[in-house]
Amino acid sequence: TNPNNANHSASNKYLREFLDDMKPENIREHLRKFTRLPHLAGTEQNLRYAEQIKKEWLEFGLDSVEMVPYDVLLSYPNKSQPNYISILDQLGNEVFKTSLAEPVPEGYEDVSDIVPPYSAFSAKGQPEGELVYVNYGRTEDFFQLEREMGINATGKIVIVRYGKIFRGNKVKNAVLAGAKGIIMFSDPADYWAAGVQPYPEGWNLPGGGAQRGNVLNLNGAGDPLTPGYPAKEYTYRFSLEDGVGLPKIPVHPIGFHDAIHLLKNMGGQTPPNNWKGALNVSYKIGPGFTEGSKIQKVRMNIHTNNQVTRIYNVIGRIRGALEPDRYVILGGHRDAWVFGGIDPMSGAAVVHETVRSAGRQLSKGWRPRRTVIFASWDAEEFGLLGSTEWAEDNAKVLQERAVAYINADSAIEGMYTLRVDCTPSLHTLVYDLTKQIVSPEEGEEGVSLYESWHKKDNWTNDRDAPRISKLGSGSDFEAYFIRLGIAAGRARYTKNKKTERYSSYPVYHSVYETFEIVEKYYDPSFKRLRAVAQVRGGLIFLLADSQLLPLDVIQYADSLRKYAHSIAQLAQRHPEEMRIYEVSFDSLFSAVENFTVTASDFHQRLQTLNRADPLQVRVMNDQLMYLERAFIDPLGLPGRPFYRHVIFAPSSHNKYAGESFPGIYDALFDIENSADPQESWEEVKRQISIAAFTVHAAAMTLTPPA
Ligand code: GLU
Ligand code: CA
Ligand code: ZN
Ligand code: ZN
Repeated sequence: TNPNNANHSASNKYLREFLDDMKPENIREHLRKFTRLPHLAGTEQNLRYAEQIKKEWLEFGLDSVEMVPYDVLLSYPNKSQPNYISILDQLGNEVFKTSLAEPVPEGYEDVSDIVPPYSAFSAKGQPEGELVYVNYGRTEDFFQLEREMGINATGKIVIVRYGKIFRGNKVKNAVLAGAKGIIMFSDPADYWAAGVQPYPEGWNLPGGGAQRGNVLNLNGAGDPLTPGYPAKEYTYRFSLEDGVGLPKIPVHPIGFHDAIHLLKNMGGQTPPNNWKGALNVSYKIGPGFTEGSKIQKVRMNIHTNNQVTRIYNVIGRIRGALEPDRYVILGGHRDAWVFGGIDPMSGAAVVHETVRSAGRQLSKGWRPRRTVIFASWDAEEFGLLGSTEWAEDNAKVLQERAVAYINADSAIEGMYTLRVDCTPSLHTLVYDLTKQIVSPEEGEEGVSLYESWHKKDNWTNDRDAPRISKLGSGSDFEAYFIRLGIAAGRARYTKNKKTERYSSYPVYHSVYETFEIVEKYYDPSFKRLRAVAQVRGGLIFLLADSQLLPLDVIQYADSLRKYAHSIAQLAQRHPEEMRIYEVSFDSLFSAVENFTVTASDFHQRLQTLNRADPLQVRVMNDQLMYLERAFIDPLGLPGRPFYRHVIFAPSSHNKYAGESFPGIYDALFDIENSADPQESWEEVKRQISIAAFTVHAAAMTLTPPA
């Protein structure tokens, strides 16, 4: 018999034990101990947790664990000069001031170092002016404001509601519109679930709660002062004026209790209906206040400081038995805005349990074929800094040796079902694995996670399988997937998107993200977190221990075909211009066709490969590993040198969302309003040719080597 069959079943036994050994009660304990104190990036407490993680990972049995420091630009409020927003009467007296802090939840009254809500990296300043309300502050909202309602936001203070898109994009849009400040508020329409009480009686955001968060536009750069290179002691640093992605205007977040005061007397036009939130105010768009209170102005008072600060990643390793020079990475952040009950510690607790369980299998004689790397990243909240600096530090090694990266941010954002975003080549593995995991839902004891997930979130009418989405950004996989071209994925428990309209989850980035909110509401049995641990851990296990890499090139071909059709369809909205400028997608379709045939041939050869020949196995595994790398264009996307993946990039209008064929998409965007259509359509043609070439080049890597 084939000796590999014996290995295969041994590996299977270890996988089963590895998955079964992860315990809800352990995850509960990990979450409890890592959420007692605030642990913002750059603070002593976050270093303490790093040291504790290092110590425990070594006790769990990892071969090595190291602390890896970088000195990056962070941003903190000034402790002696609080940030707030005021309404001024005609004499300049402050007649209203927004709150300086969130009411602290019961049991945490004596905790010090709770950072008040602020927008990290806001410019300093005290701009005064009239308010203009611009809905969510999306590109389309500003288009509507300027083009349809004829309002110019130049010199105004813009107020937008949180939700729909990454806050950094809102700030960028406000700057482009000429605003001299921007206020972001949490509207109950977006941060309040129907029939649920505010925390602590339920899991909704109280009126005094607000969403912290960075407002950078880094486009994948990492530390703003050291783009492209790791932020070490000797590293050259740009001046603050030349830093990447720093906003030029003051920015500040508020809750809806404060927002009511700013919104209630606003004058000007009534907004279109879909700009109305759920507060009992008119949502007039301004500029400025109503007749009676016209004399009033708004002032932002922002004193936040940028500061180069030391951060610490924790990097743990299990050395691979047969292919130590092939890496499978499980990484997630540790730094939190306050306690991090959900974000990120629900994820960090899951990683901790995964490391514990892997260590136990090691002690029973298991050793994965490939090297596994576990990472506890720092300063994710300040722009994915820890993960990006480590990617820069290790870029040469990673581009040669990294097989896959699985992200481990928040493991839960709702109580409904699984959510997976990943590269197309991982779809099949996710489906296979989730069939081997049981549903965490009560009353579904005999049901697989796959089945439960499938029932709740079927893909579409054209495919009978659970939905998997493409990766966007806004978490630590970005540098690995979009800059370096490493196959990547993420998985967490989520809400029912069809019935639950609110953005992310109501208490996101507030002081109310405690251990108790998870224990009382999100996952009392901790079985949902266990299921997520089994998905993330199982992916790592199978990627590290399977003889043939479980990456599916046929799925990539299918996705490319889908994306090519949808981008071509977008261009077809301009048939006239397509004719005039001779724009054709034939080269792209032909490349995709060629990729499909090549992928299917490759897949065939994989089935008949002599698995007893280690060199033949290694040759094909390398082709599988390097397929994702082949989609990297070393020149990057236009104006975004660190976004180098030709198939996927974060949307230029929303960092959280993924865009396929982003080069072509951006070239086509708003092209009907281009000042120079000829030039714009030439750029479309150039982007189509880059996409066609890249798909063709990627296909070549799958052909027989000789
Ligand atoms: N996850 C953090 C947030 O959404 C950081 C995202 C980023 O900077 O890309 O605020
Ligand atoms: Ca850097
Ligand atoms: Zn976060
Ligand atoms: Zn996070």
